[in-house]
Amino acid sequence: MSDYQHILLAADFSKQGVYVAEKARAIATTYQAKLSILHVLDNIPMPDAYYGTVISLTEDSGDALLEAEKAKLMALGDQLNVDLADRLLLWGIPKQEIINVSEQQQVDLIVVGSHGRHGLALLLGSTANSILHTAKCDVLAVRLKEGDL
Ligand code: AMP
Repeated sequence: MSDYQHILLAADFSKQGVYVAEKARAIATTYQAKLSILHVLDNIPMPDAYYGTVISLTEDSGDALLEAEKAKLMALGDQLNVDLADRLLLWGIPKQEIINVSEQQQVDLIVVGSHGRHGLALLLGSTANSILHTAKCDVLAVRLKEGDL
């Protein structure tokens, strides 16, 4: 098996996401791989932006909701010791943008939670399910159970 060189953590900032993030960091450490974090903004209306718009982490947007999401990404990036340039905030549809970034950045492993903010109603969350079906690289869906959510 070849080593992973670039791992993408899809972070939805849910409570159980910390567990998923630690898994991603452990794998990145094992393989001495680059670790990137991506959060896709899908709950903040941004009328002037098109899907896939990259949001700057260093410029103040003046929007409190957006600043709160940036702060969560910065905190997670600090926790996982990820370079500023590898902390990615995009506006769009999570399942699409996660795949787009993984292809553009030649990611060889995507790490997602089996479930996220939408709960455990499905056997596998819809984002995780879609990524498992469409990604061209390996995908790790970290199993989250009732007590984790
Ligand atoms: P879901 O399928 O929506 O329940 O979420 C499953 C997993 O997909 C989460 O644990 C995250 O790893 C990822 N994910 C969901 N929404 C987002 C998002 N907005 N940005 C980044 N990753 C996400």
